[in-house]
Amino acid sequence: ARIVGAAAEGDDQAVEAALRPKDLSEFVGQEKVRQQLDLVLKAARQRGATADHVLLSGAPGLGKTTLSMIIAAEMNAPIRITSGPAIQHAGDLAAILSSLQEGEILFLDEIHRMSRPAEEMLYMAMEDFRVDVIVGKGPGATAIPLELPPFTLVGATTRAGLLPPPLRDRFGFTAHMEFYDPSELQRVIHRSAGLLDVEIDPAGAAEIAGRSRGTPRIANRLLRRVRDYAQVKADGTITREIAEAALRVYEVDSRGLDRLDRAVLEALLKLFGGGPVGLSTLAVAVGEERETVEEVAEPFLVREGLLARTPRGRVATPAAWTHLGLVPPQAAGP
Ligand code: ATP
Repeated sequence: ARIVGAAAEGDDQAVEAALRPKDLSEFVGQEKVRQQLDLVLKAARQRGATADHVLLSGAPGLGKTTLSMIIAAEMNAPIRITSGPAIQHAGDLAAILSSLQEGEILFLDEIHRMSRPAEEMLYMAMEDFRVDVIVGKGPGATAIPLELPPFTLVGATTRAGLLPPPLRDRFGFTAHMEFYDPSELQRVIHRSAGLLDVEIDPAGAAEIAGRSRGTPRIANRLLRRVRDYAQVKADGTITREIAEAALRVYEVDSRGLDRLDRAVLEALLKLFGGGPVGLSTLAVAVGEERETVEEVAEPFLVREGLLARTPRGRVATPAAWTHLGLVPPQAAGP
């Protein structure tokens, strides 16, 4: 389990339920998405209709599940939560769809990971609120049409581009969730600290925000670990000094890099002079699998502008040298 990992793990789920904003006004940041969604939902309410299907795209931990629950709350509708990998057969989807109430919100996380037959069933369900249930096998199989109550599908995916166009086109509204900037994360942290009954000053919240990789889930997780430290080692109040000391214990540095990220950068700089170096060589140097370096460490290093993937191999940027407090070879004195 990675303390700066964006996926939910450990005790995240239990705590997250308590920290979830309940309506759009409590939802921090994502200004554009909030404004657009507010209009879509208000208009549907005024018409007394179910809202159009909504596609939420964005990295893990940015608030897609939270937004789907907010949509249900704003529409005063029940919500059913499931995910693409949980729907392996079209029959699984038919069972869910046919048990929906009128106006219900169906949240389908990781919608890009649904099986093909289920996906095709979903096309018709989204468009005509109808599915064909196939009964029997082989030449004797018959399709029995089944009417569905109108519902709103909220699909979530890490990238809208992963969806086949026919599925993407059936959403009335697509919201792209961006990474949060530090001032927004600072608001998330203050809000969560209030709910967790933790004292925190603005500098303490800023320190945690700067290390949270643009992701509320990580901000909430770091806040909980810093709270533990403040409680055990100090008087419980989170200040900048406390946040720094706590996150040093957890090896999360000032930009949110953890031990693995730093090991990759350090090898690139110290052993290979900043590159270019091939991925396999870099992986051997840090004693990790290729996939771990490529999929776990690199995406954030690239996003932070610390590492570039080039056709000739991995290259460190000037910011990488500065971040690790090292001097690039050509700039070094005689
Ligand atoms: P995944 O794709 O991994 O399921 P997600 O995008 O659905 O992640 P959520 O579970 O909705 O992410 O959010 C993770 C945590 O971050 C929750 O505890 C939630 O309270 C908090 N959070 C997310 N977005 C916001 C926000 N805009 N304001 C305040 N808290 C937020």
